[in-house]
Amino acid sequence: MKKGKRLYEGKAKIIYATQDKDLVIQYFKDDATAFNNQKKTTIEGKGVLNNRISEHILSNLSQIGIKNHLVKRLNMREQVIKLVEIIPIEFIVRNVATGSLTKRLGIEDGTVLKEPLIEYCLKDDKLGDPLIAEEHIYAFEWANKKEIEKIKKMILRINDFMIGMFRGIGIKLIDFKLEFGRLKVNGKNEIILADEISPDTCRLWDSITDKKLDKDRFRKDLGDLIPAYTEVAKRLGILHEQSNVSAVNVTQLSSVKKKNK
Ligand code: UDP
Repeated sequence: MKKGKRLYEGKAKIIYATQDKDLVIQYFKDDATAFNNQKKTTIEGKGVLNNRISEHILSNLSQIGIKNHLVKRLNMREQVIKLVEIIPIEFIVRNVATGSLTKRLGIEDGTVLKEPLIEYCLKDDKLGDPLIAEEHIYAFEWANKKEIEKIKKMILRINDFMIGMFRGIGIKLIDFKLEFGRLKVNGKNEIILADEISPDTCRLWDSITDKKLDKDRFRKDLGDLIPAYTEVAKRLGILHEQSNVSAVNVTQLSSVKKKNK
């Protein structure tokens, strides 16, 4: 598949056109940002791990009927995805209170929620992705009620599936962010899951030790981000057990891919 012109560059990914107007290439960068872009760095190998982990999760989700934008992974850093009209909302799903929720409402960090909590943030970097109510979505027509009802149902299934998947490998799914898009199918709009699901967009804690295996390692200057993401990939069965935990060994992903062909 030939990579065409760059259509969009975000904080962690670049989108390129292809010869097919309905498909684009999503390139995973090594850039890490936090706190509304105030903290920035490059972490070698992060994009490779996120590409692979996101591919794994999205293809598992499509096997349980959750339609999503992934067509196929192309190489270490790129995947072909369906071009969708992104709904400008970040859907935050929480199982355990931490991060901005605890700060905003004074909830004790680590409080297990009785039911998953869905929060909505407007996707707008200039405004710092502000928290909004469901009513704002309808008032400003960012999505309609039918779409949000459908998305909520999808979110709960995704959450159930992901909790189980991670529990099976000794990881607690604390919270995560999802994005959805509209796809025209036979003249009708269909809602599908878009963006990525990776340790950049989820909080993942080791089930026994509560060790953070996600982007909080960067946000909170805990270090060792690549070993943590590698640990997630290994436990998911994407990386071989014997591979050493270092940025260099991210290259092992390519040999795994070749062997699987
Ligand atoms: N999240 C994300 N992108 C964002 C904001 C949040 O992927 O722009 C994810 C984040 O990694 C976490 C969850 O959404 O898994 C909830 O994040 P929170 O609202 O607590 O934000 P933070 O504390 O990171 O500011």
